[in-house]
Amino acid sequence: MREDICTIPVSEVFEPKDGCPICRMRDTVETRMVEYIMGAAMMEPDVRMETNRRGFCEDHFRKMLGQKNRLSLALMLESRLIEIKEQVFDKKRLSFLTEEAGCFVCDKIQWGMERMLDTVCRLWVQEAEFRALFDEQPFLCLPHYEQLVSAAGKLKKRDRAAFCEAAAKVSGRYLLALKEDVSHYCKMYDYRNAGNNEDWGNSRDAVERTIQYLVARSVKDSR
Ligand SMILES: [Zn+2]
Ligand SMILES: [Zn+2]
Repeated sequence: MREDICTIPVSEVFEPKDGCPICRMRDTVETRMVEYIMGAAMMEPDVRMETNRRGFCEDHFRKMLGQKNRLSLALMLESRLIEIKEQVFDKKRLSFLTEEAGCFVCDKIQWGMERMLDTVCRLWVQEAEFRALFDEQPFLCLPHYEQLVSAAGKLKKRDRAAFCEAAAKVSGRYLLALKEDVSHYCKMYDYRNAGNNEDWGNSRDAVERTIQYLVARSVKDSR
């Protein structure tokens, strides 16, 4: 498979300034990988061999079910079942289920993300324009803040400290704003109980936004 399926230009991800840019990066690659696995990958024997061996996680099975091409999924499941029959039941290799356990889509996303996070760090050091764009992001969710700080481990010591400070600023200021909104949300229940007509302000979706900040996934659709 072509490696460029797993990566997208970093500046494209930071331009919209809408939510966590790294979440958008992950979502874009994820959608692309699911579409690829249900489409062009069917014609690539090396990918089929890998998906027979590795399988998929529940999340990505669900996303594949959301695609139109069910025949692709059925064909993949058919050859995966054959592989499991041979390994687990014919060869009695129960360890196949643990040693090879994983998800083809998760693996490829992780591979792409590692490279793109390295690019984020490098661009931040090299380009003043990108540093400004980085500061203008609405927020970095907590898991992606942690991943960026880890990726910055490859930078020179002085650059690393400056980068981590910039990332902490973007993620930390959002945490404070969330804390304000969640506190306001809690207070609204008191006001309502007291019969006052206080304004909800920004706090109506504070719970959903806080969960998104903590787990790097939007939960707004599941309301
Ligand atoms: Zn994120
Ligand atoms: Zn997965």
